[in-house]
Amino acid sequence: MELRLYNTLTRSKDTLRPLDPANVRMYVCGPTVYDHAHIGNARPVIVFDVLNRLLRRLYGEAHVKYVRNITDVDDKINARAAERGITIRDLTEETYRWFREDTAALNCLPPTVEPRATEHIAEMRTLIESLVASGHAYVAEEHVLFHVPSMPDYGRLSRRPLDEMVAGARVDVAPYKRDPMDFVLWKPSADGVPGWPSPCGIATPGRPGWHIECSAMSWRHLGETFDIHGGGIDLVFPHHENEIAQSRCAFHTGVMAQMWMHNGFLMLEGEKMSKSLGNFVTIRELLAEWPGEVLRLAMLSTHYRQPINWTRQGLGFAAKTLDKWYRVIGEAEAETGEGNPFEIEIADRLADDLNTPSAITHLHHLAEVAEHEETSSALRRRFKGAANLLGLLGDTETGWRARQKEAIALDEGVIAGLIADRIAARKAKNFKRADQIREELAAQGVVLMDNKDGTTSWEVSR
Ligand code: AMP
Ligand code: ZN
Repeated sequence: MELRLYNTLTRSKDTLRPLDPANVRMYVCGPTVYDHAHIGNARPVIVFDVLNRLLRRLYGEAHVKYVRNITDVDDKINARAAERGITIRDLTEETYRWFREDTAALNCLPPTVEPRATEHIAEMRTLIESLVASGHAYVAEEHVLFHVPSMPDYGRLSRRPLDEMVAGARVDVAPYKRDPMDFVLWKPSADGVPGWPSPCGIATPGRPGWHIECSAMSWRHLGETFDIHGGGIDLVFPHHENEIAQSRCAFHTGVMAQMWMHNGFLMLEGEKMSKSLGNFVTIRELLAEWPGEVLRLAMLSTHYRQPINWTRQGLGFAAKTLDKWYRVIGEAEAETGEGNPFEIEIADRLADDLNTPSAITHLHHLAEVAEHEETSSALRRRFKGAANLLGLLGDTETGWRARQKEAIALDEGVIAGLIADRIAARKAKNFKRADQIREELAAQGVVLMDNKDGTTSWEVSR
């Protein structure tokens, strides 16, 4: 089966041909660990988990090396640790533990390696010294900077016009930069901020810039060049462009990774969900209300390159779908592997640039087939095996019902508050708001019943 993936580098769907035909190597930019991950951060984790599962299915589990880093040195981390009065190590450990728990609840397999930036400082120094030695970087005022004009084809990934990049870079030009586009590889650390011995004979201890971390960790764990590099679309410029510049100039290679894949944004009310905009909901908050599998199915219902509009209604649909699918499989065990034609049909759809919406539509069809063949448990096992490829239906119906109850620990006080808001909205003739509250509750399975005397009661129906 050929695997075709949209490659940001070529702007086309390319067939994956691993550099080593028997082994695939993939790197995905991971979290900066200073706070709870929001559901937008979960998107690349889930999307590349689906790709990881597909690669393991196509090449064999032992032949896929998936590396996702942990950025545990960053100015946001320093600031947050100071704010909370805890050590940097405690903050990054705690946040990483949350991240691991959250992503496990979303049924994501752990990557093969999760390297930490702070454990790869030696590799960063080596790369930086080699870039300085070959004239691609220079030392200025205790910083080391990559000199962008030293790379004639800088910008090939993002294809931004040079003047636009220069204008962007000019916003914040440090006086020691030779060119406004030059970026930091290493910077000095003041007292109280983590610092390591600096490269290039700089006396003051320092710390790495963000981009060099990924060049160092991908080099150490995957080599000078590898097959797939992924992350969110916001990372194309400058992060990935700069990773490419560092790695290609250090190793004198034509590419860093052959395929560059980027997921679209998760949006809330028309805006990108992000910590800086303040419009975010954490994975943890959602997990208090919904089983992780519901979040996963809702996420995969949109193709990974399209923006997702995140709504409660979408979660409600996903919950209903899983409810139905678990009813179909009952207590069946999954059938996986070459012998399962349903699984091959799903793999086929995923092999077309991870077309998860098409795979899900097909699962709906397969569920109907399995449901109507009451006597055939083989079909139920095959259906379950096919869904497993997407990281879905890993449980039994009994297990699912138990998890659902746990997640729907409906807070009666919150419901009573919303009902009171709705009554007030109706009194004020704000019927739009009143309907909105009714729909919000309906999406959680709470059905309101208005009585003649003006009171409202409710019951759960999912
Ligand atoms: P950050 O912690 O902001 O560096 O983000 C970690 C990963 O999440 C990166 O791959 C980002 O591209 C991705 N990401 C952040 N916000 C969103 C969003 N709203 N939708 C999709 N991906 C996102
Ligand atoms: Zn990166």
